[in-house]
Amino acid sequence: GARETGPGSVRRYDDALRAAQGRRDQLRTDLAGALARGELRMVYQPVVDLALHAPAGVEALMRWQHPEFGAVSPADFIPLAEESGLIVDLGRWALVQACTATGQLAADELYVAVNVSARHVLSGQVVDDVVSALASSGLRPDRLVLEITESVLLDELHITDDLEALRQLGVRIAVDDFGTGWSSLARLVSLPIDVLKMDRAFLTDLETDPQRRSLCRSVLQLGSSLGLAVIVEGVERTAELQLLQDMGHRFVQGFLLARPMELAQLTDRLADHDWTTALVRSDR
Ligand code: C2E
Ligand code: MG
Ligand code: MG
Ligand code: MG
Repeated sequence: GARETGPGSVRRYDDALRAAQGRRDQLRTDLAGALARGELRMVYQPVVDLALHAPAGVEALMRWQHPEFGAVSPADFIPLAEESGLIVDLGRWALVQACTATGQLAADELYVAVNVSARHVLSGQVVDDVVSALASSGLRPDRLVLEITESVLLDELHITDDLEALRQLGVRIAVDDFGTGWSSLARLVSLPIDVLKMDRAFLTDLETDPQRRSLCRSVLQLGSSLGLAVIVEGVERTAELQLLQDMGHRFVQGFLLARPMELAQLTDRLADHDWTTALVRSDR
């Protein structure tokens, strides 16, 4: 209405913008010391194998508990770390944390997937950092997956050598948020990759729209015809899971199956959790 367009609302809008900018500046400053102050930690979200009714691996996700703002989303602080270059330190730390934690699990076939930022890959330090994380943790290289977003892989062809070097070690490469760079699909095919993580955008209207369903099925088929393992991200609803199962799909990750959790909780759930409860009975 008229009131919202008056000078008072413009001032409120300016105030809100300034407050958001102020918070961002504060976060950028504070992030520099967050690691040293012990405010960062890793949480782990299971990826479930629908064929085995058990987790195949976990994705390691970073969390920042800010003393004043509380939990800050990685969607907010990772970009700040990328801008400042701090992401290389954070990424190195995440690799060590995730490899060490996974190496200590009783489930010794489980893999851990660590998100690696473009900036870290482009720094040329990723191979060394992976080698030392594997060495210090003693984790088998084939239990480590590196998640790299599709845009980086497509834009930066010269990182292919580093990816090849990592695969020589036995580490696998996953394309994260897959499906956001269709124009470069042809280039994707020539990349040294092992896993596709289908963006959760492909689950939109899955239950109601047959065309969306065909699109989703096509992406899954594309992945498997290229010999890649495909993980569907962001499964929140039973109906989505059921449709994926009907398509013969195998690997899923999402709040419906498990939320990201602390290492202690993961250890407990791996020991005694019934992973079939969220799954559709196959004899229905
Ligand atoms: P991502 O790598 O695509 O990670 C998946 C995100 O989806 C996570 O958000 C996870 O909590 C969320 N998620 C999982 N299941 C569901 C679901 O069923 N529904 C919905 N709506 N979301 C779901 P999170 O932890 O907030 O991380 C956001 C992004 O921040 C990540 O996206 C990744 O790009 C980045 N990130 C997180 N941790 C790290 C890290 O250690 N290093 C780097 N470089 N980036 C990280
Ligand atoms: Mg990821
Ligand atoms: Mg993702
Ligand atoms: Mg994502």
